[in-house]
Amino acid sequence: MKILVLNAGSSSIKYQLIVIPGNQVLAQGLVERIGEAQGAVHYQSADHQIDEEGVIPNHKAGLEKVANLLLDPEKGVLKSAGEIQAVGHRVVHGGSYFVQTTIIDDRVKKVIKDLFPLAPLHNPANLAGIEVAEKVFPNARQVAVFDTAFHQTIPEVAHRYAIPNKFYEKEHIRLYGFHGTSHQYVSKKAIAYLGNDKAKFISIHLGNGCSMTAIQDGKSIDHSLGFGPMNGLIMGTRSGDIDQSVVLYLQQSLGYSAEEVANLLQKKSGMLGLTGSNDLRDIESASAKGDPMAQLALAMNAYRIKKYIGSYAAIMNGLDALIFTAGIGENSDVIRQLVCTDMEFLGIALDQEKNKIRSKSIRTIQHPSSKVQILVIPTNEELEIAEQVYMKVKGN
Ligand code: ADP
Repeated sequence: MKILVLNAGSSSIKYQLIVIPGNQVLAQGLVERIGEAQGAVHYQSADHQIDEEGVIPNHKAGLEKVANLLLDPEKGVLKSAGEIQAVGHRVVHGGSYFVQTTIIDDRVKKVIKDLFPLAPLHNPANLAGIEVAEKVFPNARQVAVFDTAFHQTIPEVAHRYAIPNKFYEKEHIRLYGFHGTSHQYVSKKAIAYLGNDKAKFISIHLGNGCSMTAIQDGKSIDHSLGFGPMNGLIMGTRSGDIDQSVVLYLQQSLGYSAEEVANLLQKKSGMLGLTGSNDLRDIESASAKGDPMAQLALAMNAYRIKKYIGSYAAIMNGLDALIFTAGIGENSDVIRQLVCTDMEFLGIALDQEKNKIRSKSIRTIQHPSSKVQILVIPTNEELEIAEQVYMKVKGN
């Protein structure tokens, strides 16, 4: 089955055309700067690479460009649009309504729309991607894969906030969680690798956005992002955990508007706010040259991750494996080492040499004395979406 996976953002569309079973990527790329003065389309297949600049007024124009490239008689990989049997859409917020991958119909689109206030940056773009794909690929099944779905197993004791009940019942304010597709993908890989579907895992996704998930019996039981994607770990530009009093102080004493506070905590904080860069490679090289602020930022980042490891080991009453994934988790031996140092009390001991090996494969990097396995697992959200879409469409 040829499945087109779409990840539509506010001004971009990432896409991959994948054949399942077999996991063959026929083509992939990105449409960027949609609606701006100058946009770009990138396309890569086994034999061709295309990078085109030009105005892309809206998502429809962007997706039509993708379709034209896929169907190009010389450089394309399809003879007709009808060859695409399903389009898998990454949808960021599924609220409490969607616990699994769902075939899209008018009711599903209405719920995605009703959830706009909870994900104002993402769900409108995701819905635009769906509506455009319906027009461009009218014969394909349209399927939604929700970032929040994997976390719907988080129990009430963990997903509720201690505020008056009406805010939960009427306003649906609770922990939803994000990066679910990535956490689900790496936890399935870890279960297969370790041959243990009852294991207690902590999955640590460290990219531009960062989050951790406690996973027991293959299910998410707690997670560091919350109602929105701001809580928990220190991220590229987001502060993660912060005392609510700081938000009140910014507004009540320093005169910040709600919008200014949101901008500060989401776009100007985190590693960027501490060091001036949100790219961990820059921060690591500054730290290696002795920059004290870069060193402090790395130490703070790892310290926060350690606190979550401790709390998740406590709530699961044990720990079998840590999983590091995404750009930083897969590539930064520096962060992995800072996190796994002085953790023998929890049975975590890193092998320094194994930690330094660079690889694109799943691997373990713990010392033989470690009770806890430490895995590095490359994530692949597009493949997870394609596999879920395949199972859903096949089953219908
Ligand atoms: P996104 O959340 O946008 O998908 P990624 O998973 O690609 O992000 O992660 C981006 C982060 O990974 C950046 O902070 C980048 O600096 C970091 N990163 C990528 N490669 C390396 C590397 N070799 N060493 C350290 N950090 C890296």
